[in-house]
Order: sequence, then structure tokens, then C-alpha cells
Amino acid sequence: VKQEGRGALRFFEASMNAQLQARLLLGQELAHAVERGELVLHYQPIVNGVTGEVETFEALIRWMHPTRGMVPPIQFIPLAEETGLIDGIGRWVIDTACREAAGWPHPWRVSVNVSPKQFRQTDVCAAIGDALEANGIEPARVVVEVTEGILIDDADKAVAILNRLREMGVRIALDDFGTGYSSLSYLQLFQFDKFKIDKSFVNRLGEDDRALTLTRTIVNLGHNLGLQVTAEGVETQAQLDVLRSLGCDQIQGYLVARPAPIDAFTDLDRLRTKA
Ligand code: C2E
Ligand code: CA
Ligand code: CA
Ligand code: CA
Repeated sequence: VKQEGRGALRFFEASMNAQLQARLLLGQELAHAVERGELVLHYQPIVNGVTGEVETFEALIRWMHPTRGMVPPIQFIPLAEETGLIDGIGRWVIDTACREAAGWPHPWRVSVNVSPKQFRQTDVCAAIGDALEANGIEPARVVVEVTEGILIDDADKAVAILNRLREMGVRIALDDFGTGYSSLSYLQLFQFDKFKIDKSFVNRLGEDDRALTLTRTIVNLGHNLGLQVTAEGVETQAQLDVLRSLGCDQIQGYLVARPAPIDAFTDLDRLRTKA
């Protein structure tokens, strides 16, 4: 190895080391985030496609870090999954969402995300059951959003858990529909309550005929299977117009509102007229 090459390797090792150190530090800080009250839930409204009325609020976690500022979930949920912290954080999300929703001035539904790794690492049924009981919220007001990734490893076990959740009275939404790599055969295994069309389809509506065809097909597939269809990531009026013409049941996206603390949504008439 030439001198230069050795220097590059040493530099590479040093920067890997720095990355690892940074990750370790973030992991240690995350371990304390729950007890220090640094985690918060923001909410994004999901409105009726026809009337524009708010039906559900999706809970989206944020980490209010004392020095780093607001850390988005993409930057710490994977770390939480690797370190096992996701169990405690996931329980905190479910409990907090149910507690906050129980105090809302209107019985909107509340939707919580459960990642595939979280689904495997946590007893989701116990977490939901505890939160329902502790907060006295109607099970029918709670929606659990999962992705098809939960069905990839042990589908039988995943379906058994989904069925138990269903028996408890909560609803199950299939998030990011159309982005996974499994076949449609898993739709034979479980009757979801709704599909959420991934924003990668919605983004391209109006730009490309294929996106339109795919979106129409997903809406029709959902309806033919007897479930509701929500479009996520709706940012423009043109996208909204197309989705409404396709009969999409619910709309979610920056066009209606960005995720924010629940107190930001006092002016619900405005939301109603926007959609
Ligand atoms: P997701 O469940 O697919 O959530 C939708 C994401 O799209 C959210 O990002 C939301 O802020 C964003 N979004 C909403 N409307 C628009 C729009 O019109 N345009 C664009 N470009 N984006 C929009 P966020 O809050 O950063 O969350 C990212 C992901 O992190 C979520 O994707 C979900 O997979 C995960 N996540 C969030 N909260 C939780 C949680 O409490 N638990 C778990 N396990 N995962 C969570
Ligand atoms: Ca979601
Ligand atoms: Ca999604
Ligand atoms: Ca997503």
C-alpha cells in the first residue's frame, strides 16, 4: 500500500470512528429522552375527501433535543429500533396519543404508527390494551398504522396479532401502500380497515399518467375490498381535485395542514373549507 493509500485508510477509520461515537452519544441521549420529557407528539389532520371535515389526527413523534433542536423521527426511530429503546418509546407514543385524544374537545380518531421492528419487539396488544384502559378512550377511536413489512417474516404471527387488535375494537390501516416489495397475496391474509396511498404516488399526480392510473387502481382495489382509502402527502389543489374525482375517502397533507402540536388546530372551520 502506498503512503497515500494508508493515509486515506486512516482517515476513513477515523471518520467511521467519529460516526460511531456520534451514534453512541445520540443513543445515550435517547435513552433519557422519555424520562426527561423531551419527546412530544405532533398531529396532522386527516380530512374527509368530500366534506373536508377532520376525522382523524395522525400522531407523529418529535424529539425536542435541548441542544440539537427538533429531531425528526427518521433520525432516531431506526436508532431506537437497533438499541431496543423502541419498546419504551413506542409504549410512550401509544399511551400519550390515547391520553391526549381522550381530552380533545371532539371525538376525532387518533392514529399511531408502529414500525415493523417495533411490531416484532413489542407486545403491541398489551401496549394498546394498557393505554385504552388507563385513558378510558373508546377503542374505535384508535387507529394503528402498520406497513406490509410486518408480514414479511412471520406472517401467521403478525396476522394473529392484527386479529387480536381488531377484536379489541381498534382499526388497522396499511400505511405506505404500494411501496413495499411483497406481492398482493398478503391482502388475502387480513382485512385491513384502510389503505394509505403513499405520497410518492400522490406527488406525481398531474405530472404523469401512470401515477394517475396507479392511484385510481389503488383506490378501486381498496373500495372493492371494502375498505377506506386515504391519500397522504397531498400538497396541491390539483392533486386534491384528482383524488376527489377518483373518490378517495380521506385526504392528508400539507395542503390541509402540516403536523403541529394539537393546540394549533383550534380553527377547524378553516380546515373544513380548505379541502
Ligand atoms: P409516515 O407514517 O408515512 O408519515 C408521513 C410523513 O409524511 C410524516 O413525516 C409527515 O410529516 C410527512 N408529510 C405529511 N404531509 C406531507 C406532505 O404533504 N408532503 C410531504 N413531503 N410530507 C408530508 P414525519 O413526521 O417526519 O415522519 C416520518 C416517518 O417516521 C413516518 O412516516 C413514520 O414512518 C415514522 N414515525 C413518525 N412517528 C412515529 C412514531 O410515533 N412511531 C413510529 N414507529 N414511527 C413514527
Ligand atoms: Ca403513518
Ligand atoms: Ca405513510
Ligand atoms: Ca412513510
